Amino acid sequence: MDRVQLIEAARNYVDSGGLAADLGKLVARRSISQSEGRREDLYAYLQEDMQPLLLSMGFDVELFDNPREGGAPLLIATRIEAADLPTVLVYGHGDVCNGEAHRWREGLEPFTLTQEGDKLYGRGTADNKIQHLINIKALELLIRENGRLGFNAKIILEMAEETGSFGLREFFVANRERLAADVLIASDGPRLAIDTPTMFMGSRGGLSFNLIVNLRDGDHHSGNFGGLLADPAILLAQAIATITDARGQIQIPEWRPTSLTPDIRAVLRDLPPRRHDADWGESDLTPSERVFGWNSFAVLALSSGNIDAPQNAISGSARATCQLRFVVGTDINEILPALRRHLDKNGFPMVEVRAARGEAFQATRFSPDHPWVRFVEASLTRSAGRPPHVLPNLAGSLPNDAFTDILGLPTIWVPHSHAECGQHGPNEHALVPIAREGMQLMTALFQDIAENAVSLKAEAR
Ligand SMILES: [Zn+2]
Repeated sequence: MDRVQLIEAARNYVDSGGLAADLGKLVARRSISQSEGRREDLYAYLQEDMQPLLLSMGFDVELFDNPREGGAPLLIATRIEAADLPTVLVYGHGDVCNGEAHRWREGLEPFTLTQEGDKLYGRGTADNKIQHLINIKALELLIRENGRLGFNAKIILEMAEETGSFGLREFFVANRERLAADVLIASDGPRLAIDTPTMFMGSRGGLSFNLIVNLRDGDHHSGNFGGLLADPAILLAQAIATITDARGQIQIPEWRPTSLTPDIRAVLRDLPPRRHDADWGESDLTPSERVFGWNSFAVLALSSGNIDAPQNAISGSARATCQLRFVVGTDINEILPALRRHLDKNGFPMVEVRAARGEAFQATRFSPDHPWVRFVEASLTRSAGRPPHVLPNLAGSLPNDAFTDILGLPTIWVPHSHAECGQHGPNEHALVPIAREGMQLMTALFQDIAENAVSLKAEAR
């Protein structure tokens, strides 16, 4: 098949309902890596849902236990066609967040795929099941129609992304040879606009931590002790209020990026507007600069006393779980020490800073001038008939550093979802128009790689 016919076949797979049917089976697998999940389901996703499909495509498939105690399994699939061809590494995560079924609207449930118009509802549809399914199906289409890929492919699937890719880096270090490739081409995160493809080459980092004020055991009568015993909730609130100002602008000097250079500003200038509150965030920056080029602090959860049945008492403790999302240039190892210094300086030595459970994500950014990046951009432009939005990095976080720093790969992400798809919340859904175009883009991209395999291998070297 030629390029046009392949794109047509890709469209057919989506429009005939094939993609929705395949996605439905994956969504039905409760492969939750968070508190609601069961380990058996994480294994079953790889063993029963992915392995047969990949074997049928002529891949060698290996399953691995996580190198870290209690971690989730991983899968590597490999199809080597010739030693002198480039090797494309594809990544996906089969795990999902908690279903939180009670928060979904009437008529929807997280682990049953429900199609309403152009929306495919279900936990993990957008993040990340449809995304790696599309990429695998695009490879399958090429193999079926052409009898070969025309390049080498490796697929790495993990089942712990929603818990910070626990153990992924150790696994990469131990399996560097097995994962050796020329480029990572993968899909996660959202497009910027529904009607325009997006590509990005890195991600913001993310570090979660707890702020704890633990003054005494038990609660004390607020009449007998109010005004006498320090209130941990007030202390915690005051401490948080020193981290940002009233519009969320970060006040800790070490947390303020120095990497928003003129060239990054130029890349961000032409991006479409994003939903934002006009009086929130760094006032001197555009919304795109705030989310792709700057750091943001968030309070994820806040607790003291019993909010559902408050007592007339002063709590003994208060706690907040907080997070810093950060861009390249902010040293992940300096984030909490800088916070400690800041709290001490502002008179809050009683606020304990404790790293949260789970992995932190490093910030990465890859040059848009690399030959692979230019090649992918040209292919997407040709297929879509318009240029993609090219971001220096995703606003969210991905284990991208494992690919850049451990495997030494250029990393190119082509997302097949949109930011308003309810990822990590109720009513998560994938959008059929994005899936259709995504399937076409990836099929054509892989075909383009096949046709230019030898020169790509030489040029990138
Ligand atoms: Zn996610």
